[in-house]
Amino acid sequence: NRRPAANSVIRPDFKFEDMGIGGLDKEFSDIFRRAFASRIFPPGLAEKIGIQHVRGILLYGPPGTGKTLIARQIGKMLNAREPKVINGPEVLNKYVGQSEENIRKLFADAEKEQKEKGDESGLHIIIFDELDAVCKQRGSGAGGGTGVGDSVVNQLLSKLDGVEQLNNILLIGMTNRKDMIDEALLRSGRLEVHMEISLPDEGGRAQILKIHTTKMRENGKMARDVDIQELAKLTRNFSGAEISGLVKSASSFALQRHIKGGTVAALSDDINEMQITMADFLGALE
Ligand code: ATP
Repeated sequence: NRRPAANSVIRPDFKFEDMGIGGLDKEFSDIFRRAFASRIFPPGLAEKIGIQHVRGILLYGPPGTGKTLIARQIGKMLNAREPKVINGPEVLNKYVGQSEENIRKLFADAEKEQKEKGDESGLHIIIFDELDAVCKQRGSGAGGGTGVGDSVVNQLLSKLDGVEQLNNILLIGMTNRKDMIDEALLRSGRLEVHMEISLPDEGGRAQILKIHTTKMRENGKMARDVDIQELAKLTRNFSGAEISGLVKSASSFALQRHIKGGTVAALSDDINEMQITMADFLGALE
């Protein structure tokens, strides 16, 4: 009798460590688990307690901290189909009617499937990137003078409120500016779970460095002198994206040693012996 509730197939094999995201702290994983726990309730329990599945999440924090990565991993964890992605500034460039129509379309597939298949419908994820862009002008009548921001927020609100019977939608909003997000969007039943993704601390940076050097380490391309802990110390205030950039840059420094002098890009015969060293990382850092 412990069949999972509707639209709720959390992959049982799913582990945080497998997400390829470094630096997530316990607070994050606790919120994360609580947000999705109702999706693995036995049938009827959610009704007994009187709770509904979380249908909206806000991921906020500085650029390059892995928000997009996390949103996509949530999709994988919940066995959802490929998320649909919508971008705030892009929406603003459209005419009022067109943006509303696009949002209507985003929800339409999920609504149709819910009607046809009911509880058997799969989960549909909509990722709204740079959500602050559409909220900025709300109430000011601005939005490039078109009021598009206003109408998009209103359309989102009406969709979220309208999905009362829809358990098969999860909206993930993302922003670097939580303070710009319309309060109305953050209320219960809407983007109700707020997850802050901050810059990684030293331990987090070490994890992220390890994640992004996995391939080179496993393939024997990383020299033994590379000191991940030391690099984690030296990359204070780096975002995950910047750490990923650092690793790429270090590889290019290593590659440079194998480009034949005087050529633009003819490679030396020992190219297969290429190793990325601590000096390459330090050069890249500089
Ligand atoms: P933005 O706010 O600029 O859209 P974001 O927070 O959505 O940025 P992502 O696009 O998810 O950031 O991150 C960019 C890339 O940086 C990721 O694809 C990944 O390679 C790397 N990255 C960022 N954060 C992490 C992390 N915590 N662990 C591992 N890789 C990370």
